[in-house]
Amino acid sequence: MGPNGSTCVVLLGSGTPRPDPSRSGPATAIVVNDTPYLIDFGPGVIRRAAAAYEQGVTAFGPGVANLATAFLTHLHSDHTMGYPDLIFTPWLMGRRVPLAVYGPKGLKAMTENILKAWAVDLGVRTIGGHARAPCEVAVHDLTPGLVYRDENVSVTAFPVHHGDDLDAFGFRFVTPDRTIVLSGDTSPTQSLIDHCDGCDILIHEAYPLSGTDRTSPQWQEFRRTHHTSSKELADIANTVKPGLLVVYHHSNVRGGPMGSASTEVLLDEIQQSYKGRVVVGCDLDVF
Ligand SMILES: [Zn+2]
Ligand SMILES: [Zn+2]
Repeated sequence: MGPNGSTCVVLLGSGTPRPDPSRSGPATAIVVNDTPYLIDFGPGVIRRAAAAYEQGVTAFGPGVANLATAFLTHLHSDHTMGYPDLIFTPWLMGRRVPLAVYGPKGLKAMTENILKAWAVDLGVRTIGGHARAPCEVAVHDLTPGLVYRDENVSVTAFPVHHGDDLDAFGFRFVTPDRTIVLSGDTSPTQSLIDHCDGCDILIHEAYPLSGTDRTSPQWQEFRRTHHTSSKELADIANTVKPGLLVVYHHSNVRGGPMGSASTEVLLDEIQQSYKGRVVVGCDLDVF
């Protein structure tokens, strides 16, 4: 997968903050010309990338050492708890270039604090006969607009709405053969619709409406202001008409585990009004 000239999406983690053993924390890779680009790094990200490598996504490299470019939608812990793993493990396994990370304000401070927290380890691994080159991270603050471009991809960040208290972004990736839009965590936002023109794959979060009336008013209000319901996602998809809609970061019915029954409920709610191609993503799915 991901041979020269082709683009694929690898869902590394399709989960939420709930520690579901079958769904890692939010993390998605877009692979172009055998080069991986990561969006979000929830808990489990590097193990899942290693699993994808074993399943044929060779772009990650042995030990995931080829993972060197990452983007972050927002600073919530479920999207960032794999950050030390992303910084240190590929470096230990042979990454010889600085890790380049593009994220909201606050990511620089998080990075500096992680490097400080692991100072003892970094000290012992960079001295003596088996010393490695220093572990370097280049952090770039995101602002809306074109944030990255190389021979494989151009990446545009756009603001989304994930409550009132933190910066949150979605991303539009344009590669030689595909346009992919990723929502991040958001309630319905016009800026996402504006960035979906010609979109082959829309990767979007959603929660099911079934059972919502049995949750607390506070919880309902939180979901309404921070996330997107199945019905709202169907409306968005009917507007932007993606080639394929991939639902990720999907929460479950009434907070229980995300079994196949919950997946069916979510899919059914979306398909009540959206008739295009749609899948509810699982970890290690490749599109
Ligand atoms: Zn979030
Ligand atoms: Zn989240």
